[in-house]
Amino acid sequence: MVKRSIVKIDEEKCTGCGKCISPCAEGAIELVNGKAKVVSDELCDGMGFCIGLCPVGAISIEQRQTLEFNPEKAHAQPKKTDTSIRCFSCDCGEESAYLMPVRHKMESIWVCTRCLPKLIHG
Ligand code: SF4
Repeated sequence: MVKRSIVKIDEEKCTGCGKCISPCAEGAIELVNGKAKVVSDELCDGMGFCIGLCPVGAISIEQRQTLEFNPEKAHAQPKKTDTSIRCFSCDCGEESAYLMPVRHKMESIWVCTRCLPKLIHG
């Protein structure tokens, strides 16, 4: 056991929308009885990529005693595809471009790296 950063999901706030699941590259989050859960602490690296994707602010990072992150186990998890993840600007998906999550006007949206310069520079 080590003390480290790890994702915490507030079940009261979680609506079960599933937006945090496929973007987690480690496969650490699944829906269980309609609520998002970290299924194994070994799979969560605590980087918090999922935080900005949650529309209701149910995800945070906490420091606590838990298992060490296991990168081999995490990278062996089956990758989940989500065709609903599209660039807000050109509508391309992850099969053809790199996508990044951004926040704008209290919304989580995705932008591809081709459209990102236009977003930054107008
Ligand atoms: S994105 Fe937020 S509300 Fe949706 S399933 Fe994940 S924790 Fe729950």
